[in-house]
Amino acid sequence: MPNSADARRRVIAVYLTQGTVGLLLMLAITWRHPGEALAVVQRLGPDAPVLMGILAVFAAALQLLKFELTNVIYISLGMMAYMAMVPLLGTVLASWMIAGVAIATRLLAMHDIGPVKLGMTDAPSEYAKVFGLFSTYGIPAVVAGSLYAALGGELPVMHATPASAAKIAAASVALIVTNSVVMFRPQRAYGYSLSRITKLDIIDMSIYLVTVPFVVVIALSYAMIGWGAVLALAFTGIVANFVARKLAVTRSRSQQQLTRIASLTNVGKTISLRFATDELLMAIYTECKKTVDCTLFTIALLDEQTSELSFELDVREGTFLPKERIPLGDGLNSWVVQHHQPLLIHSTADEQRIGVKAVADSKPTESWLGVPMIARDRVIGVISVESFKKNAFTEDDLLLLTAIANQAGVAIESQRLYKDLEGLTYALEQRVLERTNELRETNLRLLAADRSKNQFLANMSHELRTPLNSIIGFSSVLLENAREALAPRMYKFLENIRTAGNHLLELINDILDLSKIEAGKMELRADEFDLRDTIAAVERVMKGFAAEANVRITANIDANVPRVRLDEGRLKQILFNLLSNAVKFSPKGGPVTIGVTALPRERSPIGVDSIRIDVRDEGIGIAPDELQRIFDEFYQTEQGRRARRGGTGLGLSLTRNFVELHHGRIDVQSSPGNGSTFSLVLPVDYEATAAPRPILHAASV
Ligand code: ADP
Repeated sequence: MPNSADARRRVIAVYLTQGTVGLLLMLAITWRHPGEALAVVQRLGPDAPVLMGILAVFAAALQLLKFELTNVIYISLGMMAYMAMVPLLGTVLASWMIAGVAIATRLLAMHDIGPVKLGMTDAPSEYAKVFGLFSTYGIPAVVAGSLYAALGGELPVMHATPASAAKIAAASVALIVTNSVVMFRPQRAYGYSLSRITKLDIIDMSIYLVTVPFVVVIALSYAMIGWGAVLALAFTGIVANFVARKLAVTRSRSQQQLTRIASLTNVGKTISLRFATDELLMAIYTECKKTVDCTLFTIALLDEQTSELSFELDVREGTFLPKERIPLGDGLNSWVVQHHQPLLIHSTADEQRIGVKAVADSKPTESWLGVPMIARDRVIGVISVESFKKNAFTEDDLLLLTAIANQAGVAIESQRLYKDLEGLTYALEQRVLERTNELRETNLRLLAADRSKNQFLANMSHELRTPLNSIIGFSSVLLENAREALAPRMYKFLENIRTAGNHLLELINDILDLSKIEAGKMELRADEFDLRDTIAAVERVMKGFAAEANVRITANIDANVPRVRLDEGRLKQILFNLLSNAVKFSPKGGPVTIGVTALPRERSPIGVDSIRIDVRDEGIGIAPDELQRIFDEFYQTEQGRRARRGGTGLGLSLTRNFVELHHGRIDVQSSPGNGSTFSLVLPVDYEATAAPRPILHAASV
């Protein structure tokens, strides 16, 4: 069909004027040769109706078996019969019969009768075209007949001579050429280019020219044998035409199938690459268009929340209509959604039979095909195509569209999920951001609080230490110098005051050290020294305390123990803590030993050249479930508390911290009643040691 109103008007005009010319020409020739038709009929005698019948059926059959030669050329071999009519029936009879058959078969096709179904898409144009057949075939018939007569052709041809064969051939060629010439103006009105017209003419004419010898044989066979031969040859012609048509149809089907398979394999890929919905819908449309008639095409998505169909893509004869929403309910699209099924309608009658009513259209359509897009077992939308023609869509179209819709459904759904996911990720990111900010603020507050705590501890210990030092100092002086002046009870009190004061001072010092460590402000000094001297010094200080408890401290230092680079002050503190615990928790007279050995890096658990110090006692020991906890701040064992040996529970915590600051490690092996062994491993040179490994604080025996 012409694609614009203007072109349509032009085509109608051309057909009407040319048809009129053709009709007038036929009338004129009939007028001018009044006796010709009658003379021919008389000469044929009783054969006349038979021969005319055979030729008419031959022509009609060929005309009705019109087929698609290539995807641009539809061909009918009716010309073969028309060409044979000219020398057998003469100009007048032949032209009226040819025009009659052409018009009759066209009318049948327009009413969907017979193998070719044209449908009435646009009745005025169709009828104009029918009228135009007076020129398409009438004029060529008149020209061919007149040429045949001018050449002195016998009417009807009765003698099979080379001369008559030549005349028949000449008339046939004239028919073919005139037909092409007459078709020129309608083709131009359709907007065909000159090159396209030339190409079509060359193909048409060469096919018709090939049949000319066959036509000559048909015409001459009547002269030689009679109408039986014409019948036989006509039959052969029809069969040959039928076979050619079948082949062409099969080939075009298989070609179509191939295109469909290709487009189907393509569609998934194309669709899955689109990211925006509009782009995706356009891609679906483009793919559908390749294999299905998509003159009227829509994609509607279901909005479950509002129960509406939203027409996201609506293409009518090449024009994209604005998006529109309609409530789910009436109409073919709604039917597809509600029934979860495709719907194929061949004509308005079909539509009434099924009982679904299309939503009112400005220009009513005949065929409709809609398939649901399904994702995760839910219908999410409908793809539909429509046509003004009857029977425009086939089961094949339905299958193809279903396959495309399935892929589209998955693509659209994944796109939605992706969008949801994007939203969720964004929300999550926001939450994480908020929480991070909150944490940062909390952290800042905590840091500030920590700073004030440390400041407080520093201030407090300073405030406490000054009077404490006076108390300890004065009580010591009194204890030494005023022994005689004081009553024994008072002297005892004074001693208690000094002991308590010393204990308090220790506690304060320990707390201060711990808070320094916590604040990361504890710095070690690297002194190079000989462990033997250090241990001797510690032993000297411990002497009085050990003697009081009646405990003997012995040290065994291996000869190969090297000089070390550690913080000597802190090492002394470590040893004081471990030794005073050992003494404190030993029975009277119990031995306490310090063992020092060198550990080469291969055997050292900290992987560097180290020394190992074991402080062993045979005291009350520690229960297995408490071994892990004795290094916690303020923790004292059940057994220890019962033994009432005083203490603060800070010593071991500080000890562990000092050891770790030296990149070393400390373990304890102990069991109740069997004494304890605290083992330290320290690097020979702590400054040359890298970050510490994870530390195992305790091990049970
Ligand atoms: P303190 O000795 O001041 O209480 P520590 O931190 O030095 O604090 O020790 C914590 C606890 O570990 C002690 O109270 C005691 O219960 C237990 N403990 C430490 N050393 C020994 C040991 N050699 N024998 C038995 N128990 C010990």
